[in-house]
Amino acid sequence: MLGPLILAASRSDKMRRFVSAAPGTKQVVARFIAGETVDQVVPIIRDLADKGLELTLDVVGEDITTVEQSYAARDAYLELIARLKELELGERAEMSVKLSMFGQSLEGGHELALANVRPVVEAAAAIGTTVTLDAEDHTTLDSMFAIHEELRKDFPQTGCVIQAYLYRTEDDARRLAAAGSRVRIVKGAYKEPAEVAIQDKAEIDKAYVRILKILMDGEGYPMIGSHDPRLISIGQELARRAGRKLDEYEFQMLYGIRGEEHLRLAAEGHRMRVYTAYGTDWYGYFMRRLAEKPANLLFFARSILTK
Ligand code: FAD
Repeated sequence: MLGPLILAASRSDKMRRFVSAAPGTKQVVARFIAGETVDQVVPIIRDLADKGLELTLDVVGEDITTVEQSYAARDAYLELIARLKELELGERAEMSVKLSMFGQSLEGGHELALANVRPVVEAAAAIGTTVTLDAEDHTTLDSMFAIHEELRKDFPQTGCVIQAYLYRTEDDARRLAAAGSRVRIVKGAYKEPAEVAIQDKAEIDKAYVRILKILMDGEGYPMIGSHDPRLISIGQELARRAGRKLDEYEFQMLYGIRGEEHLRLAAEGHRMRVYTAYGTDWYGYFMRRLAEKPANLLFFARSILTK
């Protein structure tokens, strides 16, 4: 019950102001957000890499309202790439981007987002790494997949995300499970209507398994984005049955969630990539993390009340 309410609040400016100003917020946000600036995140990147983990970095932000903000988002990623170049991690540190932050929802947004993301993908390729396009709400996906296809003409390693809760996703997975493609499968984090998305959690899990099987049996590179222990072991089993070696798929989890599991999978020889978000515009990202686990909300409420 709480999840959908929190997701609705994630779109409210009033709630954004309240949550951002609440005492104790910073302490809870710090669990999920690795820092506010690139200087703060660099030591964390080093630390995770030293532990044998890989990264996908996300400069948080979405739902922008001006073209200037979309340029600022592009520049924030270019600044990050300049720092990654010094770290020499190559594809061990890639990036995740939300096209809404690159202007997708503004007038002429499809072209604007493509124009903003292209130099980021180019700069990433120049230092031996790549970019994955996150999946946002269902209304944005046709544009995201079209931009993905366009970018792949020059940068075939560009990845994208598909969401198990959407009815359309099995078809998307079949189309994307081709040689050279990199596809992250997740359950889905947005509030979506019943016309387009499965609402029942157990049914979403079943869809996840069906879609993951399509990816594993295909010729692309599946990226299993989940903290769910059942899906992780099913993922391992599907990979084994498909005859995949350990470096022919990977696991991905979010920074701040099940950290001991990141290390366990890496120690078993799996590629384990930590989605590491940083930046100042953390509100939408943070609220989705609260919605995924209502216990987080209790912890958050307690930290406000005890300040
Ligand atoms: P769940 O059943 O939600 O969780 C399984 C267990 O993991 C829980 O019991 C709990 O122990 C732990 N857990 C999960 N979430 C939390 C949390 N927030 N706080 C504390 N513990 C938690 N969604 C999109 O819509 N688009 C994307 O582009 C996208 N990218 C993602 C990238 C990565 C690497 C990951 C891991 C997730 C991404 N998501 C994205 C979010 C995803 O859709 C789910 O909302 C999220 O992963 C929770 O689902 P789960 O598979 O972990 O399973």
